[in-house]
Amino acid sequence: MAEEIARDLHEAIRVTLSKFAQIFDTINFGLVVFDRDLTVQHWNRWMAMHSGISATQIVGEAAFDFFPQLNTASFKKNCKSVLAFGNFAFFSQKLHGFLFPFKPDSSFGSRFDMMQQSCSMGPLRSEDNSISGIFLIVQDVTELANYEHKLVEMNTKDALTGIYNRRFLESRLKDECARQQRYQRPLSLIMIDIDFFKKVNDSYGHQGGDFILQAVAARAASVIRKTDFFARYGGEEFCCLLPETGAEAAESVAESLRVHIAEMENRFDDKIIKVTISLGISALLADDSPDTLLKRADDALYQAKNSGRNRFVRI
Ligand code: GH3
Ligand code: MG
Ligand code: MG
Repeated sequence: MAEEIARDLHEAIRVTLSKFAQIFDTINFGLVVFDRDLTVQHWNRWMAMHSGISATQIVGEAAFDFFPQLNTASFKKNCKSVLAFGNFAFFSQKLHGFLFPFKPDSSFGSRFDMMQQSCSMGPLRSEDNSISGIFLIVQDVTELANYEHKLVEMNTKDALTGIYNRRFLESRLKDECARQQRYQRPLSLIMIDIDFFKKVNDSYGHQGGDFILQAVAARAASVIRKTDFFARYGGEEFCCLLPETGAEAAESVAESLRVHIAEMENRFDDKIIKVTISLGISALLADDSPDTLLKRADDALYQAKNSGRNRFVRI
């Protein structure tokens, strides 16, 4: 009896699918149908094109035999919930990247080497409302994900140096100040300014100046920890936010930055350009706001400039 019902269900799905195959094969997304055992029942042309596996090859076969990477606890849990309760499931690109490992249509200028996919899954019901299988819709969102990534990058990164911009730093500073004060953890800030930078521009042109900005940013970024935030604050000014770092540790970071930058031999147009930096340090106090923390680092930087440059001062 159960076998008969199953056969009838299969037949009903087959007839329905072949009726709509013309539409399914022209739509611009992947459409897959599984039966209750996760055997492939339908595989539209889009899926065949991107996987290199034809419908003839895969229909009637176990989905996991062809795509073992789908055989995860979370995917199976979703299938179970669709089959048992008729739920819908969504696999967002942000969380999963992709379900099916396909090459993207074009990898030119893309940061993804795999097609990014948003997938949804739901129940296929028979006329008596019983759940006979699962449909899975696969949408290529690589282009969208690329745009999104570029937009975020443009909003948070400085175009010339590739490090964070002032806007990003200020929003992090606000968050970190609140967090470190709540948990009474240390936080330090270092303001950095290149000494006599106008002279670099005057002697080597704006391009020489830009080159130095890039070199200093890259070297400083390589000196600090991954958990610190390093940003271009303005022209030739940089700012370094050091979570979980007290005043003394910040001083040693500042000194290390100062030495690394002073030792750099920047080759531009077959000439060596050497620069130094001055640094101002402030460490978070209980009643500090982001503004007062910034202000103290700025005042400290001013003192470092006035007391001879190529040094740090902490206030
Ligand atoms: P100090 O030691 O007191 O800091 O002297 P300084 O010459 O570094 O300081 P000043 O503020 O007088 O000059 C900063 C210069 O930085 C002036 C400006 O033209 C230059 N500058 C700002 N942004 C850029 C940029 O994006 N590229 C280049 N090449 N130069 C820039
Ligand atoms: Mg300056
Ligand atoms: Mg300067």
